[in-house]
Amino acid sequence: MAVALFDTTTPLAPLRQQIIERLTAVVNGGRYVLGPEVQGFEREFAQYLGVVHVVGVANGTDALTIALRAAGVGPGDEVVVPSFTFYASAEAIIPTGATPVFCDVDEETANVTAETVSAALTPRTKAVVAVDLFGNPAPIAEIRERTGLPVIEDAAQAAGARVAGRHAGSLGTVATFSFFPSKNLPCFGDGGAIATDDSQIADRARVLRSHGSRDKTIFEHVGYNSRLDELQAAVLRVLLPYLDEWAAGRRAAAANYEAAGLGEHVTLPASGPGNEPAWHLYVVRHPDAEHLCSALERAGVEARGYYRTPVHRQPAMARWGAGVELPATEQLARTNLAIPMSPVLTSEQAREVISAIAGALASMHATPAGSASASPPSGG
Ligand SMILES: *Cc1c(COP(=O)(O)O)cnc(C)c1O
Repeated sequence: MAVALFDTTTPLAPLRQQIIERLTAVVNGGRYVLGPEVQGFEREFAQYLGVVHVVGVANGTDALTIALRAAGVGPGDEVVVPSFTFYASAEAIIPTGATPVFCDVDEETANVTAETVSAALTPRTKAVVAVDLFGNPAPIAEIRERTGLPVIEDAAQAAGARVAGRHAGSLGTVATFSFFPSKNLPCFGDGGAIATDDSQIADRARVLRSHGSRDKTIFEHVGYNSRLDELQAAVLRVLLPYLDEWAAGRRAAAANYEAAGLGEHVTLPASGPGNEPAWHLYVVRHPDAEHLCSALERAGVEARGYYRTPVHRQPAMARWGAGVELPATEQLARTNLAIPMSPVLTSEQAREVISAIAGALASMHATPAGSASASPPSGG
């Protein structure tokens, strides 16, 4: 039986009717932009995260740009950002007028650390974007303490994760979320949010998301048209109460992988001390990840290497990435492999994935990687 990389439908199936009822109510109510659903979601998500303010925006990329500007980042500033992340973490810096400065990550956790960030600091550094990569919180308290700079926590992949009881998204000076359908807390399209305890940052973010205006009459800033829709907020309000259960399901799936011996075949992802990750992706490492990936696909197990071309080597980032050397990033870009993960991955599926990995590795060892005479998949 095939195992997919994600399962975004099974967890939502029991909630279908409830979602449709709430969507119908929004359609009938006639308020579609910045109405009671967005207000309600902002209040409920702030309460969940344990922060004072949540500001709903159109997507996770806008959330970053607006959060950076609200935290005071502008032209002439530098912002430190990892290169081993989704492209948008760095892309979102450019519209602020600031310069992205790429930093390395720790090879075991794939996250930035106080050391990798410190190595990229200059007198012009205004802020740090720290990504909770794959749903595993970065050591944000340590980075804030060591650098004394505002830290923008990119929690797009980490809804439901915690560190020592505190939620991912409450760790940075300001944090950002994406509710893209594949993320841990999904909506039915694009959506995003900014979370912060800082009233000034929240206030600026609210103004920036609405064309830089408080009253649609006086425009204080060149802002954005970037609001979370009422329809999406209505969906999110139905799903939020299940986020913790889903995050626990992801951790249980990771525990099943570990208990069933996955670590004997590949290197398991490491999480920091006190971390309760909400594995958005379960990303293992192997020296021959690409061959393993192809062999798994042939065995019906979906697998994918992430960020094979890290952000600093993307063509659009050439101006800022040229000449930058990030050894751990390069190593991870080659060796990482995401294997199936979801809140409902069963222990049977975990065992099936592991036996497919064991089988794939055995056949790869029998026929050296890159060998022209590799045997057909049925030959093992
Ligand atoms: C998905 C993602 C984003 C962007 O979110 P969108 O809602 O797709 O704009 C930003 N950063 C990270 C780490 C992400 O995974």
